[in-house]
Amino acid sequence: MISRAEVEKLLEVRAAGPSLLSLYVQVPLDPAGLRGLAAHIGELFALAVRDGPGAPAAVRVRAADAQAVRGLLASGARDWLGHTVAVFACAELGLAEAIPLPCPLPERAVLAARPHVRPLLLAIQRCPAYRVAVADRRHTWLFSIAGGQISTAALPLAEGMRSHGFSGWYGLQAHRVNERIIQLARHHYRDTAALIEQASRASGPEPLVLGGHQDTIPQLLAVLPPGLRDQFAGSFAADPHTLTPAKVRDLASHVIQDWQTAHDQHAAAEFRQEPPDGRTVTGLNACLAAANRHAIRLLLVPAGGLVPGYACQQCGALSSTGDGCPHGTAQSLAVPDLIEEAAVATLTDHGRVRTLPDPPGGIAARLRYPLPDQLR
Ligand SMILES: [Zn+2]
Repeated sequence: MISRAEVEKLLEVRAAGPSLLSLYVQVPLDPAGLRGLAAHIGELFALAVRDGPGAPAAVRVRAADAQAVRGLLASGARDWLGHTVAVFACAELGLAEAIPLPCPLPERAVLAARPHVRPLLLAIQRCPAYRVAVADRRHTWLFSIAGGQISTAALPLAEGMRSHGFSGWYGLQAHRVNERIIQLARHHYRDTAALIEQASRASGPEPLVLGGHQDTIPQLLAVLPPGLRDQFAGSFAADPHTLTPAKVRDLASHVIQDWQTAHDQHAAAEFRQEPPDGRTVTGLNACLAAANRHAIRLLLVPAGGLVPGYACQQCGALSSTGDGCPHGTAQSLAVPDLIEEAAVATLTDHGRVRTLPDPPGGIAARLRYPLPDQLR
């Protein structure tokens, strides 16, 4: 499962020139399709070829790296059926690494001085690790889902495992029994909330999905402390006693997908409603100007598309033309993707990057401070 820490580790890797290959390839679901994989990789390699001003020589995938990629896929592909796999290879650095990813991502091959990470950021955003609590009045099952794998996050919690002073139970008058059951359920939901909170404290906040009978979910939601409520992504209705872990994963994954879509729409709508106070910019040139000034708090990028451009070797300035800073074109190095460069610059400046299906203006940024008019 890819994590932000792994992305940060990859971003420390740097080659002397554009010799580091990043390949994102979809491994077919059907093993019979593996026969065509080598040819398909060849087509992707061809997309990485770059010629032109700023590139020291024609940039193409080297034979040793092509071989390393084919070797990694030949030995691992059967374990990665149906997955997008990221492969990073650079013979001069001794780098050859394959990472199977949790969700389908756009395919591409990129040659640059460092690993191309935009699809990894998208994978982390789209397929987060999350928790699922399935509960009825008496039992709770807590699961962790990461990279499509489901595991039990805590021992099933059952009413009676903890003492709440139930000693009076058997002696209760019949008319009080129902009331007592409701009270016990309430205790049980509080225990459930405590269990989720414990998991959240132990391994950090994650989106939370609740599952159970229609009437259970609002009752459970009502006792969640505010911190957990913020993590609540949605719920599904099901009879807990008919569920298997695989069913839980399938039902919860739809909830997470809907939550992501709503989140994307909300992020775009919120951006469009920002007052025109100069703290938001749209379009590539304005976003590059903002990145060059370390001004980006949030960068909204598309999932697809690579935009070639230039980065200054002296000051790091990004531009489409190579003359975006006082050092001029002589210091400019061609880069395969300005969106990637802006995203990495934003992360380096402790800003956030979010991939949207259709970001305002193609690419957009919310800034820490307004840019001078001529840069917007
Ligand atoms: Zn410069």
